[in-house]
Parts: sequence; structure tokens; C-alpha cells
Amino acid sequence: MSSSPIIVWFRESLRLSDHPALYTAAQAGGPVVCSYIYDQESPELRPLGGATRWWLAQSLRALRAELQSLGSDLVIRRGPAAKVLGDLAAETKAAAVYWNDVAQSGPRAVADGVEAALGRIDVKTRVFADDLLVDPAEMRGKDGRGPRVFTPFWKRVLALGAPPKPLPTPVRLTPLAGLASLAVDELGLEPTKPDWAGGLRDAWRPGARAAQQRLTQFLETAVGSYAAERDRPDIEATSRLSPHLRFGEISPRQVFHAARFAAEERPALAKGIDKFLSEVGWREFSRHLLFNNPDLATRNLQPSFDAFPWIQNDAALAAWQRGQTGYPIVDAGLRELWHTGSMHNRVRMVVASLLVKHLLIDWRQGEQWFWDTLVDADPGSNPASWQWVAGSGADAAPYFRVFNPVLQGEKFDPQGAYVKRWVPELARLPAPLVHQPWAAKPLELAEAGVALGRSYPAPAVDHKLGRERALAAYARLRTSD
Ligand code: FAD
Repeated sequence: MSSSPIIVWFRESLRLSDHPALYTAAQAGGPVVCSYIYDQESPELRPLGGATRWWLAQSLRALRAELQSLGSDLVIRRGPAAKVLGDLAAETKAAAVYWNDVAQSGPRAVADGVEAALGRIDVKTRVFADDLLVDPAEMRGKDGRGPRVFTPFWKRVLALGAPPKPLPTPVRLTPLAGLASLAVDELGLEPTKPDWAGGLRDAWRPGARAAQQRLTQFLETAVGSYAAERDRPDIEATSRLSPHLRFGEISPRQVFHAARFAAEERPALAKGIDKFLSEVGWREFSRHLLFNNPDLATRNLQPSFDAFPWIQNDAALAAWQRGQTGYPIVDAGLRELWHTGSMHNRVRMVVASLLVKHLLIDWRQGEQWFWDTLVDADPGSNPASWQWVAGSGADAAPYFRVFNPVLQGEKFDPQGAYVKRWVPELARLPAPLVHQPWAAKPLELAEAGVALGRSYPAPAVDHKLGRERALAAYARLRTSD
């Protein structure tokens, strides 16, 4: 049994259960120093957006409270991870630093720097696989390329068998007294002037406990109808686990095993559970794409798109960001995003399609907006999904599939409840018209209190014209191949 302290460097697994680095450090029996390094200086890391910064602050507070309930604490420091961890190891006379891997090139480069710095002062390191169901290096083909098509990828992941069973929370953590720590407030992660986070506070409860409760509740209720209703933004039919997974407040192994257990207990749920797990599979696929393409957020996976004639249109981009495009389902989604830091998956697809196809605005501008405003903004799923919609990605939607925002609204928000919630100026229009107010008669508009072009904008671009223009741009790209 070792009595020298071990430092556990918390990175993106902001939880105590199923935390391989923490569990192994606790087993060693000596003091465990739980640390979080807020690193804005290592150039390899993509700076967080506003909404994820807010989430991180709440998640760190929750983690600290949980550690304190075990008699421990969280030591928060700021600076380049290699320097700060080197200093902390020297200060605590730690024998080793343990952490969970983040299987991405930037975070791995930072971890390599940490390893080198600690090596110079004879401090050991141990790294544990964590944020994925399968090591992405294992899924590369003989040619060294990673997966490009989802269905065979997911079949292969499932064929590898269940991931390791989740580890328990350590029962006891021996702390090391007297270590200085920053307060979460001192990191300046949350908005103050103005404080725009009220909607986020109302919509979310960050932290590992809330994540477990959400998973349990979802498996007890909505999962049965998930396959049928997951595309409906007017119903709470999905798990809403994405920001929790993003910050590792819950591990994909925990989600996998809890879902499989629920399916064994109640076989009638199996269909919904398989569908749900395949969506978790899309997260996995996106992160494998990122692992193999570190510049996923900036480079077209299909190089033919490098010549795409994107249009720089700041006014149209700003109207899209504010939810003022004149397409109700699109505006509802963008306002939901601004208010709550999230948007339903189906609506994300429609909103993204309008930007890159009807407005011909580069998908990277949309990706950056989502990166800044989503609480689940994920370095893999966000760019992979944008490239999927744009048609430039792996296993992407074909470019010629241009969503019709009116039909999407009518199909997935049949009573218009979602639009009416987020675009209240249209709330008095009857259901079919709420998705296309320009089709209403003047009297119907007057009765609903809608003045098109004044209380609510006319469409930024006509659907038919937008579609034809997009297809023409795409055809030019094909002929220049
Ligand atoms: P559920 O339907 O309950 O699914 C369970 C989990 O599976 C999710 O929590 C998520 O981790 C994963 N998942 C579900 N759908 C997808 C998907 N299509 N791609 C990857 N993972 C998925 N998801 C993010 O987590 N972060 C992002 O930054 C992100 N950006 C997106 C951008 C665009 C343009 C689009 C079209 C989709 C994006 N998604 C992103 C995927 C998806 O919209 C969200 O994961 C989903 O809406 C989260 O809701 P949920 O947790 O209720 O999902």
C-alpha cells in the first residue's frame, strides 16, 4: 500500500462513478488529490464557447460538492496543464498523476506535454481509456483509415461485445490538507454583464447526480416510445443526456449497461433501446471521425467541397442566428437554442440545412455559432453533424436532399405547439398556417395579430428558389470535379 499522494487530473470525466483514474488511485490507499486545471493557454485546445463555459462552471461546483461529501475536495488551478501539474506534483510530493484519456489529438498533445513535464521530475503517470466505448485506433482499417460509414461501424462496435462494466464510486478518499484552490467563480466562466444564462439555469441541472437521474427517468418513461417519437420537437421524447455526456458527467459505458439492463428487464422496450443506443453510436462515430480527422471543424471531409461557392452574407447570417429567417420551425429552433442552450435534433437538421442550402452560407459559420451557443457543443458531434448536413462529411446526407422547412414543420410539429412556444408572435395562427404564415389570407393574419414583414419577417429566401439555387451551385461543383 502506497502512502505517497496520487493526483487525479479531472479532464472531461466530471464524475466520481465509473472513473477509472479515480477508482485506481483510491485503491492505492494513500492520499488522493483531485484536481481540475482550467487551461486556456495550451494552443492545442479549442476554446470553449459561452454556453459550455457556463455548463462547466456548474459541473465543477457539483463535482466539488460530491467530493466534499466523501471528505475530499477539488483543487482548481489555472494555467497550462503541464506547468500547473508539474508544480502541483512538486508541492504535494505526489508519486504519480492519473487521468482518463480524451481520445482527441489536441487534448492528447496536452497530455503528452504533461507526461514529459512530470517525467522530468520523476513523477509517474497512468492513463485510462474512458470517453468512448471502443478505442478509435482499434477501429482503423488495414489502410490506417478510420470508419467512414455509420452502419457497418456500429455493427462492428456491437460485435465487439459489451464495454467493460462501470466501476463503482470510491467509498473513501483520503484527502491531503492545506492545498490552495481557486473558487469556481474565479475562473470567470459565467456571464455577468449581461447575465444571459437565466434560460440555461431554468432548462438544465448540470452534474453527475442529475445525469444519473435523467438516464433513470428516461429509461423508465420515454424510451418505450423513443423510436416513434424522437423526431418530434413538441414532445419531450429524447433523453436530453447530451451535455452530460459531453462533460463526462455520465460515461457511455454507464449509459450502455443501464439501457441493456432495462431491455432485459422489460423486453417490450428493446426496440426503443436499440434505437437510443444507436444514437449514442452516432456520438461514438463522430468522435472516431474526429480522432482520425483532427481538423474536422475546419476541413471538408470530401475535398470536392473545397470549391463550393459559399456566399458571405453577414445580414442573412445574423437574421438566422437571431431566429428571424421567416421560416417558423427554423426560427423556433434558433430561439430555443439562444434561450436554453439546446435545440431538438430534428430541428438542428432543418436549421442547418436552411443555412447551408437555402442561404448558401458556409457550414463552418453555422458550426461556430452552435459551438458558442450549445450546452452540448461537442468537438466531434458538432462538426461531424454540420458536415453531414452540408454533404461534405462522412456518410453524409446527399447534397440534393434539401429540407423543405414547411413540410418538416407540418410533419414533426403537427399542431404547431413547438413553433407557438418559441415564436409567440405566431401563437394565434391555426396549425397548418403557423408553419407558413405567408400563405394565410389577410383577414386570417389580422385576426391572429400578425403583420408579415413587421411583427414577423417574410421568408429570407423562397423555398423553391433557394432549393434551385442550391442544386445549381452543387451541380457546378460536380462539373468542376
Ligand atoms: P437522444 O436522442 O436522447 O440521444 C442519446 C445520445 O446520443 C445523445 O445525448 C447524444 O450524445 C447522442 N446523439 C444523439 N443523436 C446524435 C447525433 N445525430 N450525432 C451524434 N450524437 C448523437 N450532439 C451533441 O452532443 N453535441 C453537438 O454539438 C451536436 N451538434 C449537432 C449539430 C447539428 C447540425 C446536428 C444536426 C446535430 C448535432 N448533435 C450534436 C446531435 C444531436 O442533435 C444531439 O446529440 C441531440 O439532439 C441531443 O439530444 P438528446 O440528448 O435528447 O439525444
